[in-house]
Amino acid sequence: MGYCSAMGNVREVRIARRTGFCYGVREAIDKAKEAAAAGKRTHTLGQVVHNEGVIAQLQAQGIETVDTLDEVTEGAAVVIRAHGVRPEVLARAEARDLDVIDGTCTWVIQEQREITKLVEEGYTIVLLGTPRHPEVVGLLGFAPDAIVVDEEESWEQIPRRKKMALLSQSTQPPWKFEKLAAFMVSRCHELKIVNTVCPVTIRRQEDTIEAARQVDLMVVVGGRSSANTKELTRLCAIVGTRAIQIESEEDLTDPAVFAGVSIVGVTGGTSTPIEDLRCVAERILRIAGTAETAAQAEELATAALSAAATPAGRTTSLPGIAVH
Ligand code: SF4
Repeated sequence: MGYCSAMGNVREVRIARRTGFCYGVREAIDKAKEAAAAGKRTHTLGQVVHNEGVIAQLQAQGIETVDTLDEVTEGAAVVIRAHGVRPEVLARAEARDLDVIDGTCTWVIQEQREITKLVEEGYTIVLLGTPRHPEVVGLLGFAPDAIVVDEEESWEQIPRRKKMALLSQSTQPPWKFEKLAAFMVSRCHELKIVNTVCPVTIRRQEDTIEAARQVDLMVVVGGRSSANTKELTRLCAIVGTRAIQIESEEDLTDPAVFAGVSIVGVTGGTSTPIEDLRCVAERILRIAGTAETAAQAEELATAALSAAATPAGRTTSLPGIAVH
């Protein structure tokens, strides 16, 4: 294994209750796998999930990630990922006679409909989101004049208008949305608020806070640039629990991080498969467990996963996904 039991103090690892892929990501992956299993040449437009392990598994099943539609040969299948795309992209794919498989999350579709309606009704739209995030780019296709704001420092650029509407990228923290809504009250005469923060995001944050309250240290697993992962790390700190953020178990090399720690909590972003959390739990016990827990690292990690994961919180149910 290359590392051995360091005789640490960790006697328990707990995995937060509802983790793993959100349903939007899971559905898009399942759709891609179904298409490949049906013998179609299958591509995903952009990475279906920002997780190298999952991308490699999909590649092994013949599913290629492409950056543009030009890379897809005529007649082949192209899966639109959960974030959705601008309407022109769908139109272009159809014009090129590609087999479009729309994996846009139903929650994002609802957001796209809401924003379209608000444009038609003449509202000046403010969207809380990360400017170049694919979901935001897709939404701007429906509302090209929408003003995208992120951190509080940028809110001053919001103009004063008579009729304004506020929406959010699905994974923005609810507290930020509420704060921005309060700020906007003074910016207009009429303010319409459509709460498009995804319920999965809210539940995951709640479960992470609950886990953080019960442990000495939290390990947050997710992409370094993933906003929803960063937010989980931040929330642990607010609760007063030290948290470290990693991309995968391989980042856990230094047992010193766990010095004096007895119970560790593990949580992950919406693009992190739940199996990765099990691997992280196992690695923690191996490098920093007590003599007893390090020896049973695998069993204890599996038990932690079974205690946490509801079937709905697991990764895709379709065959072919490797569980390591
Ligand atoms: S975070 Fe929510 S809105 Fe975004 S893809 Fe997942 S389920 Fe859908």
